[in-house]
Amino acid sequence: MCAQEYTEGDRNNPYSFDDYLFVKSQFNFYRDDEFFHALLKKYAGSEFDKIDAELKELSDKVSYRWRDLADEATRLENRVRCTIIQHYDAYNHRIDRIKRAAETEHLEKEIFNLGLFDPKRNTAWSRFAKMFLLYELGEVGVMCPVACTHGMVWLMQKYEDELSSEAKSCLTAVRDGINGDYSLGSQFISEIQGGSDVPANLVEAVYEEAGGLDGISNCWRLYGQKFFCSAMQADYAIVTAKPKNIPSSTKVAAFAVPAWLPGNKEKEIRNSYTIDRLKQKLGTAELPTAEITYNGTVAYPVGPYEKGLADVVGVVLSLSRLHISFGMAAGGLRAAREAILYAQFRTAFGVPIASFPLMMNQINDLKHAVMRTTAGAFKLYSEFIHFNENLISGIRELQQLDDMEERKRRFRLRELIMLCKIAVADEAPALIRLAISFFGGHGIMEDFIALPRLHRDSMIMELWEGPRNVLLAQIHRDLQRVAEWYSAEDFIKDMLEGAEKSIIEPLAKKFARIISHDTLLRSDEITLNICKDWQELSTEIVRVYQEQALVELDYEEKPIKFSKLYRKFKKRITERKEEELLIPI
Ligand SMILES: Cc1cc2nc3c(=O)[nH]c(=O)nc-3n(C[C@H](O)[C@H](O)[C@H](O)COP(=O)(O)OP(=O)(O)OC[C@H]3O[C@@H](n4cnc5c(N)ncnc54)[C@H](O)[C@@H]3O)c2cc1C
Repeated sequence: MCAQEYTEGDRNNPYSFDDYLFVKSQFNFYRDDEFFHALLKKYAGSEFDKIDAELKELSDKVSYRWRDLADEATRLENRVRCTIIQHYDAYNHRIDRIKRAAETEHLEKEIFNLGLFDPKRNTAWSRFAKMFLLYELGEVGVMCPVACTHGMVWLMQKYEDELSSEAKSCLTAVRDGINGDYSLGSQFISEIQGGSDVPANLVEAVYEEAGGLDGISNCWRLYGQKFFCSAMQADYAIVTAKPKNIPSSTKVAAFAVPAWLPGNKEKEIRNSYTIDRLKQKLGTAELPTAEITYNGTVAYPVGPYEKGLADVVGVVLSLSRLHISFGMAAGGLRAAREAILYAQFRTAFGVPIASFPLMMNQINDLKHAVMRTTAGAFKLYSEFIHFNENLISGIRELQQLDDMEERKRRFRLRELIMLCKIAVADEAPALIRLAISFFGGHGIMEDFIALPRLHRDSMIMELWEGPRNVLLAQIHRDLQRVAEWYSAEDFIKDMLEGAEKSIIEPLAKKFARIISHDTLLRSDEITLNICKDWQELSTEIVRVYQEQALVELDYEEKPIKFSKLYRKFKKRITERKEEELLIPI
């Protein structure tokens, strides 16, 4: 490693970031990360060797070529152009064509062609491990569609036997792929009058016997506006709407909606809806998020009409919430790693900045926070896998389970998904900001490091899939609904099992006091205080859960060392060159 040498009065300042760039750019997200290995080893069990080999192969792409594609798509000068809509073609045909950066389209194709949700290509753990690795890239305009597709597949699978043949072909396209190509799913729930209040949805579904202009008769058609439609480039969406003229017409049902009817994608004739506008967002710039109007859009029901809300919240949104927890953990691991390496490389006042006690504390805090968040995410996901990756739609469905242990454990999973989503989404922007601070002024530079992008994207996670208040209110309501068979105190004790009694008991008591307060909707002083306590306690509970996950991992940390990695990567390159020379021509 070349030491930086300066001579007073030397006009040709030799300072260079090259050594840092070398180490950062050579780091292989999976191969060089022992913590990731340890987690996978613990959780994937007998599948470890197979997944390890698959991840090594994938990581060779993710860590280098895909990382560069992701960076390129949102370079400052590309950002305003990375999602564009063209409403009409030259011949006055409404086409609503979405254009994105070629890099994003390329990434999307490669990532979707991993067949993440195809049971022939992936198991529960290989799917999770690959998604975790991919999230180290950030959202990149692809991981939101991955999360949405996950939710769509899981909801449709739940009702696979009852789906119409048209709906079944949507499922086949997103899950099993057609000729090796996998389609994307999305989820359109939020409307202009409120995203939190899904029961207030106004989009209508009407069963129409007469044929439409598209030549289809005897089908459900959607009318109305959806106001936050991400992954607008997707081929299919799960959409919530209220079906008219049926007994439960005030309730929200779930529909699978193709973006184009069969044969119309090539002609750019959308399924009777317009994309009115693409949103201009703080983060996830590569992801087209649109406002759309349905005007007779053909839609296929998924599940019972009256269960749409429970299904969408319990399965589709819960899965997206899980994604936020482990996705932000993965992004955090990368942000911390790159920042800590920089702190070891950079010097100030003649010493590496990582050796200042103020920095040492911050490095330790950052490192520990991302490790506990990641350990917590793996532990949470292992619960999901424990139940064969099946989620229960709502409390009513849960109460049909006679086995009380299973009922409680499934309930804990439901609530933990919300708790972890809130805590991780809240903490992530702060952790990335801390990581940015290690770079001083360079941390703010868009072309110096990916952290400004990760920071902007992390701000979105707070709002996606239910903002904090909405989830806190939901958990409070859920605990009250199950009070007869699951006390608030026992819930906390079970959830934090393994942690010290002296930590669990006060939390359980505080939690029980909050849940016993009848409502969070009154604006009296007691309720205001309860709300404040609940907000703080929710974070504390998750911290203990994550700390416990880290203890259970029993990982003996080997801190990353810039100089050691520098030597390792130099050696790796030399060995590779030697190997190449040995290949007979
Ligand atoms: C970039 C981006 C992409 C998105 N993509 C999609 C998508 O693809 N599909 C989709 O369906 N939606 C999408 N959304 C919408 C997102 O899910 C909503 O923004 C979210 O659900 C909140 O709805 P809202 O924006 O209407 O806020 P509101 O519902 O108006 O809420 C505003 C505030 O009020 C608070 N609040 C609401 N109810 C309560 C309560 N009971 N107690 C206390 N506080 C409360 C909330 O916490 C929030 O802070 C996206 C959002 C963003 C930012």
